Amino acid sequence: MDGILAAEAGHQVLVAACVLLGVVALVLVATTVSARREARFTARLARDRGERMSDLMHTVRMAENIADLGIWQYDTTTGTQQWSAGMRVLFGVERDEEFVPGDAETLLFANDMDLVGQVKANAQKAGAFELYYDICGYDGVPRSICVQACNLRNDEGYVVRVVAVVRDVTDQVARERDLEQSRVSALQEASVARELAQTDPLTGLANRRRVMAGLDQMVLESQKNGQPLVVVLFDIDHFKSVNDTYGHPHGDKVLQEVARICKDQAREGDIVGRVGGEEFVWIIPGADPSFARIASERLRLAISVGTAIADRPPVTISAGFTALRPGDASLKLFARADAALYEAKGAGRNRVRMAA
Ligand code: GH3
Ligand code: MG
Ligand code: MG
Repeated sequence: MDGILAAEAGHQVLVAACVLLGVVALVLVATTVSARREARFTARLARDRGERMSDLMHTVRMAENIADLGIWQYDTTTGTQQWSAGMRVLFGVERDEEFVPGDAETLLFANDMDLVGQVKANAQKAGAFELYYDICGYDGVPRSICVQACNLRNDEGYVVRVVAVVRDVTDQVARERDLEQSRVSALQEASVARELAQTDPLTGLANRRRVMAGLDQMVLESQKNGQPLVVVLFDIDHFKSVNDTYGHPHGDKVLQEVARICKDQAREGDIVGRVGGEEFVWIIPGADPSFARIASERLRLAISVGTAIADRPPVTISAGFTALRPGDASLKLFARADAALYEAKGAGRNRVRMAA
């Protein structure tokens, strides 16, 4: 009886052991299957990610090709830069040509481009920023390029990477330079035209229009600042007979000599102009009547000895001057100087008279 009971208990232990083993085996199998599945899943994920990345890179390369762009990246932590194929092409390197470490730095150095330095100088910029360079590619072709860069920051706000799109803007820059050149030359031409319109072509002095405009201005300034102002009007004596005796070309040379002598005596800021055939004006800001008399006499003397040309005698001038008075307008001032000149003529010429 005991033997039968013992055999039964042994049988039950055996069954329990078998069940346990079965469970353990099942767990092992399940774990292995799930580990394999997980490994397969991870591998597929990596493959998918790789494919997506490669698709992305393909798209970027296509975009680069289509738009003639280059992509430049700079890792601020390692100090390394990445040049896309398009970027190399912009620097005149064949798309498939091997690009070894150091090539990037060499190309930048050869073009005197401190790209990294300038990008670092813009590290505070929140949005995109632009840098322009004139370069000469490895292929010897000069190009203008525009680098549009953007700072990528980590959670602490430090720039960890700079990504830039680089474009060939040679045509655009050339067009802008042409436009700027045309604008500058148009301005120069306009300024020359304006100058010519206000200049007496024979003597190079200010013409009547410029004289009157300048006098208007000086009268206003003098009245505002309480500064004195003098107008000296002078006219060549018997000039008609100079023309009649020695000819018109000689008369022209005399006019030029008179202009030169007066210009030499004038100070900076004075206006010397030709206001009629053989009539001139000398406007002296800051001068009082006593200075005006001395200056006019000096001019009269200088002309009376300095206008002899070859064996032909010099000419003389008569001059009338006046100082600015309160309430004067330019025309009134001019008229008073003219009256003084008329007086000098009437008194026998070759003399200076102050306006009454
Ligand atoms: P006055 O002493 O009274 O001033 O006598 P004037 O002969 O100088 O004056 P008038 O007004 O009788 O003659 C001026 C002359 O100036 C006549 C004109 O032919 C001459 N003239 C005017 N403009 C020019 C010019 O551009 N070139 C030359 N050569 N002569 C000129
Ligand atoms: Mg005259
Ligand atoms: Mg005259």
